[in-house]
Amino acid sequence: MFEETLVETEKLKPKNGEYFDLLIIGAGPAGMSAALCAARAKLKVLIIEKALPGGDTASAYVVDNYLGFPGGIFGEKLASQMEKHMNEYNIFYTCEEVEDILNIHNPIKTIKTSLGYAYRAKTVIIAAGLKPTRLETDFEKRFVGRGISYYAKCDVANYQDQDVAVMGGGNCACYAADYLSGFVNKIYLIHRSDNIKAVRMLKEKVLNNPKIITMWDSRVVDAFGIDKLEKIKIVNINNDQYTWVDVKGVFVYTGRVPSKTVLSVDIMVDEAGFIITDEFMRTNIQGIYAAGDIRSKQIRQIPTAVSDGMIAAINAERNLFK
Ligand SMILES: Cc1cc2nc3c(=O)[nH]c(=O)nc-3n(C[C@H](O)[C@H](O)[C@H](O)COP(=O)(O)OP(=O)(O)OC[C@H]3O[C@@H](n4cnc5c(N)ncnc54)[C@H](O)[C@@H]3O)c2cc1C
Repeated sequence: MFEETLVETEKLKPKNGEYFDLLIIGAGPAGMSAALCAARAKLKVLIIEKALPGGDTASAYVVDNYLGFPGGIFGEKLASQMEKHMNEYNIFYTCEEVEDILNIHNPIKTIKTSLGYAYRAKTVIIAAGLKPTRLETDFEKRFVGRGISYYAKCDVANYQDQDVAVMGGGNCACYAADYLSGFVNKIYLIHRSDNIKAVRMLKEKVLNNPKIITMWDSRVVDAFGIDKLEKIKIVNINNDQYTWVDVKGVFVYTGRVPSKTVLSVDIMVDEAGFIITDEFMRTNIQGIYAAGDIRSKQIRQIPTAVSDGMIAAINAERNLFK
């Protein structure tokens, strides 16, 4: 496990009301890639991040698909390397949550944050990533934090040598199941269809892992526990058969959706709420770009987020100086 101590580096702090050429929302791989690229083009850049730099990369396990790291690299390590690289440049950085983009159609936009501050910028890149989908069920509300989790890496320590379930059948569910198998006793991978939709190597790894038991065409419909979660009720949607399975934890990976908070009603999104851009990462609004997972696109991975961020920054710079 990666245990390097994170060193807090000195970052340039913005002043309330200050003007920037480019403001980036989110310091995941898309945001940090955009910041690095824009700083190299000598833009005055502010990046606003509500949590720690790294985004979902920091919560990934071993990242095997990022070129340049033979043998893979721990997600945390990759996130910290990205941050170090970004910090080699003069980039303003603040830990706040962006709440809104005001006067979005004006040449200079105002970005309002949860601390009550406002920053001004001619161009904005939205790189705010996604958040886990909630099940919106009663049992989820009853057991959140007491057996139901959305972050395998953060909560795995509570389930050492126990039986757990992972809900979902995409890349994230498979990454989570594969990771958990190094710590827990047994994993039920519960998926509503009869096929895993993950990259082939990952899919094969999961299907060949003796600790992972796949339950196809199935949904969790209820849960029971006195104080903490003890068992879940699963229905097979083909034959309506119900089964109770003893598990101490359920990790929900049934999808990830864009956060609505930074999406002005005027920004065009697809049916699922992802921001629509062209190949230059431009949205329908002059001066507003989107990059990374929040964008309407086919492949949501670290390399594609990094690529989006770079393309957005290059085009933002061209737009500023045309
Ligand atoms: C469990 C898991 C494992 C994964 N493993 C891999 C892997 O092995 N390989 C791979 O290629 N991909 C992997 N991925 C996918 C990869 O992590 C994402 O595709 C990538 O991180 C997307 O980058 P991003 O910058 O678009 O968004 P994110 O990484 O989500 O970063 C967005 C950032 O924006 C911040 N933010 C959000 N809203 C606001 C706001 N209002 N104000 C300020 N900041 C805000 C968030 O805090 C976050 O830091 C994994 C994902 C998960 C969940």
